[in-house]
Amino acid sequence: MNSEPIPSFNSEEIDKILTKISQATNNLNDPIVTQISKIQKDPFRILITTILSLRTKDEMTRKASQQLFTVADTPAQMLEIPLENLQQIIYPVGFYRRKADTIRSICKKLIEEYQSKVPDSLEELLSFKGVGRKTANLVVTMGYNKPGICVDVHVARITQRIGIVTIKGIKDDKSIFRDADNVEMILRKILPKKWWIPINDILVRWGQNVCTPISPKCSQCVINDICLRIGVSKSR
Ligand code: SF4
Repeated sequence: MNSEPIPSFNSEEIDKILTKISQATNNLNDPIVTQISKIQKDPFRILITTILSLRTKDEMTRKASQQLFTVADTPAQMLEIPLENLQQIIYPVGFYRRKADTIRSICKKLIEEYQSKVPDSLEELLSFKGVGRKTANLVVTMGYNKPGICVDVHVARITQRIGIVTIKGIKDDKSIFRDADNVEMILRKILPKKWWIPINDILVRWGQNVCTPISPKCSQCVINDICLRIGVSKSR
């Protein structure tokens, strides 16, 4: 697949589109990791909550992270929890067995190689088992306020639907959100810097409420006059 960006909008137009969506989503709930980071800007909590949140609903992630951080909130304390207990503590989340393994492996590496401090670079974070680009970018941006672009399924889908990111060969709604890493690389080239950190929160809120995965609410959408609606075959 050719990943070269084919620009449909210039930076000024992208700025206007994101400003409109941002204003329209102002009153909606933040994604769970953002909520946690606003309560306590602790990179370790952000890292662990992001792992828990993968392919899991926000309510489940909230419950699991509250249960877990009540028992342990440092790598050493978390590693002391026997595997079976850890699985039970985080049980409401999907893939809890695999996530318990991942959490233990992260804690071990943090203790052995990083004096229990979560690193602040994408490269180092990506060397941890179970940490992908979405998680690493969230830790860097939410935990350390450093530049990064977190691309989850909503960001990947919506930027392509609107036409901000255009990838050759992608035409339908099924294939549109498969390639989040590719979307991140394109956004790094074309997205105005002021939107790098906020784009994830804005488009997650938008994707949960308006530009939904199935049958987006295009008739109520504030950008329906400019959105290219790529891959959208059914809408409300
Ligand atoms: S017009 Fe439809 S597809 Fe485009 S952003 Fe709005 S809801 Fe999504």
